[in-house]
Amino acid sequence: MKFTVLTIFPEMFNSFWAYGIIKKAIAENHIYASAINIRDFAKDKHKTTDDRPFGGGCGMVMKPEPLANAIRMAKEINPDSKTVLLSPQGRIFNQNLASKLAASKGLNLVCGRYEGIDERICSNFIDDEISLGDYVLMGGELAAMVIIEAVTRLIPGVLGSPDSALQDSFSGKLLDYCHYTRPREFEGSKVPEVLLSGNHKDINDWRLEAALIRTFFKRPDLIENRPLTKQENEILKKWCRDIENIIQTQSLRGSGTLSGN
Ligand code: SAM
Repeated sequence: MKFTVLTIFPEMFNSFWAYGIIKKAIAENHIYASAINIRDFAKDKHKTTDDRPFGGGCGMVMKPEPLANAIRMAKEINPDSKTVLLSPQGRIFNQNLASKLAASKGLNLVCGRYEGIDERICSNFIDDEISLGDYVLMGGELAAMVIIEAVTRLIPGVLGSPDSALQDSFSGKLLDYCHYTRPREFEGSKVPEVLLSGNHKDINDWRLEAALIRTFFKRPDLIENRPLTKQENEILKKWCRDIENIIQTQSLRGSGTLSGN
């Protein structure tokens, strides 16, 4: 996979390429990553990449000529690549979209600044528009980094264990289960016994239950709209029974009101 970022601030990416799994993925040729400076394609002596909007109004707009030539250069380097504009008006980025992008041959990520880019670039040079969410950033650079990270970790061979990405939140149908590491006891809190048992079936059952309950409390929308498996159904029913038992015990004790009276 080849990522080419088109930006007026290519230096922002110097440290991004230089750390962690991105650095390793580049070193091991799982990805190729570079940043094209849009300013290099400006023809005037001041290397101008923005201008005032036609029709008046506030802010500046990114000029079409330097952007068009920068995109042409990116396409020349990688003719099979898709050109994506980072934009708050694009479709919202998520894990599903990250998996689809991970299957593409290359991505040219166009980072806007100011009020955005000239509309003729959107219509004639852009294959897709992607947004990080319903809020407005100052530029597309951070959005490009987010997309590169999320896509890169899905490319086979990038993560140490191929299962790692599969068990992540949003890769399957549930949020990820809870994780623990040494020490066994930390400031009075113990690691659940089952995780120390060495019994893989029990551990897998516990992890499924932990993932399901977390999803139920944190992101019920993820399970509301799909059929539950038999095992998931059983787990939720067991929790309902346990909760009913607790409520009944509390009422018998006479402490069944919110005020605790
Ligand atoms: N005037 C534009 C609008 O309201 O749609 C916003 C321009 S924004 C200040 C400048 C640039 O930041 C955009 O061209 C885009 O590249 C990037 N950007 C801002 N918010 C973004 C988001 N939520 N997702 C992806 N890119 C974003």
